[in-house]
Amino acid sequence: MFGSSFDNSAEQIGRSYPSQRRIGTICVFGGAMLGNDPDHARCATVLGEAIAAAGIRLVYGGGCDGLMGQVAIAAAETGGTVVAITPQFLVERMRMLSPGCQTISVPDMSIRKQLMFDYADAFVALPGGIGTVEELTEVMTLRKLERHCKPLVLANFKGFWSPLLSVFESMSEAGFMNSSTRCGQMVSSTPEAILPLLQRSVSFEQNETPKPVLLPTMPVLRRSHLASASPA
Ligand code: AMP
Repeated sequence: MFGSSFDNSAEQIGRSYPSQRRIGTICVFGGAMLGNDPDHARCATVLGEAIAAAGIRLVYGGGCDGLMGQVAIAAAETGGTVVAITPQFLVERMRMLSPGCQTISVPDMSIRKQLMFDYADAFVALPGGIGTVEELTEVMTLRKLERHCKPLVLANFKGFWSPLLSVFESMSEAGFMNSSTRCGQMVSSTPEAILPLLQRSVSFEQNETPKPVLLPTMPVLRRSHLASASPA
């Protein structure tokens, strides 16, 4: 079965990039559509509820649409703290999640991506399309380049990400990917296992001196770019 050679253990992750000890904010990526399988939306709901119940803040793209919206709706309805970071053009195009949600308006997608990255202590990629792939691979690339040590879980519900994981496996076999860390990503086939996996990965204790967390090499964000922004 594909994925079995991926080391999900906290020891493996912690050994690679020790540093954080607690997850306060999770950024969830996911499709702007719900997909054909209703189980994906159910899993997104379970994840949103679990994030809220754990007292973890959710950062996401702002709209109610798709799996990304589903997780935010579930978190907000469970009483969680939800931060929507969204460019104006999406506000005009998507249904927005208003009650119980702090909205940060940004001028464009690249600043949205940087803010989502800056706020997050960890990332989850739900099933999605090309936009979700772009977001999760950027997190992996920056981690490979040692720009951060934030963990990422691929929510491999019903094997959704297995074809992509096969590509990573091929890259690794061909010598283009580090086989010991695989850029730090973990894989979970159920929504219930995601938070425990992330918590273990950041709380793993070891004796080495932690590597410094470096800032991503993305465009400089200025206060004037934001309508309102105040990472806690
Ligand atoms: P995808 O459907 O995976 O191709 O995603 C396309 C883009 O839409 C990605 O940049 C997602 O972050 C973004 N996106 C998906 N759902 C939402 C949402 N509910 N609100 C705001 N942005 C979203």
